[in-house]
Amino acid sequence: MYDVDAIRADFPILGREVNGKPLVYLDNGASAQKPRAVIDAISTAYSHEYANVHRGLHTLSNIATEKYEGVRGIIARFLGVSDEDQIILNSGTTEGINMVAYGWAMPRFEAGDEIILSVMEHHANIVPWHFLRERQGVVLKWVDVDSTGALDPQAVIEAITPKTKLIAVTHLSNVLGTRVDVKTICAAARAHGVAVLVDGSQAAVHMPVNVDDIGADFYAITGHKLYGPSGSGAIYVHKDRLAEMRPFMGGGDMIREVSKEAVTYNDPPMKFEAGTPGIVQTIGLGVALEYMMGVGMQAIAAHEDDLSAYAQSKLAGLNWLNVQGTTPDKAAIFSFTLDGAAHAHDISTILDKKGVAVRAGHHCAGPLMDHLGVTATCRASFGMYNTRAEVDILVEALELAHELFA
Ligand code: PLP
Repeated sequence: MYDVDAIRADFPILGREVNGKPLVYLDNGASAQKPRAVIDAISTAYSHEYANVHRGLHTLSNIATEKYEGVRGIIARFLGVSDEDQIILNSGTTEGINMVAYGWAMPRFEAGDEIILSVMEHHANIVPWHFLRERQGVVLKWVDVDSTGALDPQAVIEAITPKTKLIAVTHLSNVLGTRVDVKTICAAARAHGVAVLVDGSQAAVHMPVNVDDIGADFYAITGHKLYGPSGSGAIYVHKDRLAEMRPFMGGGDMIREVSKEAVTYNDPPMKFEAGTPGIVQTIGLGVALEYMMGVGMQAIAAHEDDLSAYAQSKLAGLNWLNVQGTTPDKAAIFSFTLDGAAHAHDISTILDKKGVAVRAGHHCAGPLMDHLGVTATCRASFGMYNTRAEVDILVEALELAHELFA
């Protein structure tokens, strides 16, 4: 039995008020709140167990190293990855995808080579590929979503040509809530010798993920959406791609030996982790993932699917509300505009007065906004601690906004 009240009690911030109303936090797509276990782990690390990792031979450094390194295995377990050496720890998805762009793609791609992207990618999975277009003449090929916001895997597969080197695609849209059948895409891509990078920033939050089963070459996650600290994250890199990838950043920890004449590198994954990492952030991420696995990813997904179905039915009753993305199995992420002149920013300000936190803007998804023919939407994105009662409060607040702008 999913005890949402017990889960809510684990997140101290959910007890606060905003503008005199109980907080209804529906901005999880941007960043999620942190459970007490994570907050305590951060405090303990800094209060009792802090030192730099890897380099020390003293007690505190050994404790910090053990805790930090232990997170690699936790992430591997969380993502269904059998070999934890394929997990590179980093500061989040943006760093992970840039590492692949600079370290793996740039030295290998030539002018005219093609990268296939869906139109609903986040800028973190677009801009690094534009770098390759600008600097090396790589061609970006875009695959549209249909009118429900679904991405047909066949459309992605049909876009493959002999020039295709990479498919970079989200597993779950941060704007539409659409899930993508990345396993089918990966299987077809492999048959064509094409690599696949999956942006798992949102999917890993809302559903069980098994990267070994998906068969991706790269799978990126970001800690702050997974109820962990900002500045933490990881990317899975298949061992064959690890062998092909050059280090993206140089510095301490990633080397074996450095002389005036030459440098030799550490083995992966350390080869790709230059400099002092986000030690405490990563330790916090490990605790967050243990917390999620403790509740159970299947249970979290079932709870959120119920919220999604409930919200879909409630929002469908508002005939002046235009929800973008209507696939029935969508995650509980709702982007919408209101009929009339009201701007998304004004709507979110009114919702905020009712204690409801949503995001307004382009959600770092410029091509998708163009595809939808809008400049901005409001987005209500749910997490493991949200409730049906909060859907009702959102609906009431939207009715008020509608009245004010009608
Ligand atoms: N990809 C998706 C789908 C996202 O939702 C986000 C965050 O909004 C990112 C990538 C970028 O994550 P970060 O800013 O944590 O690197």
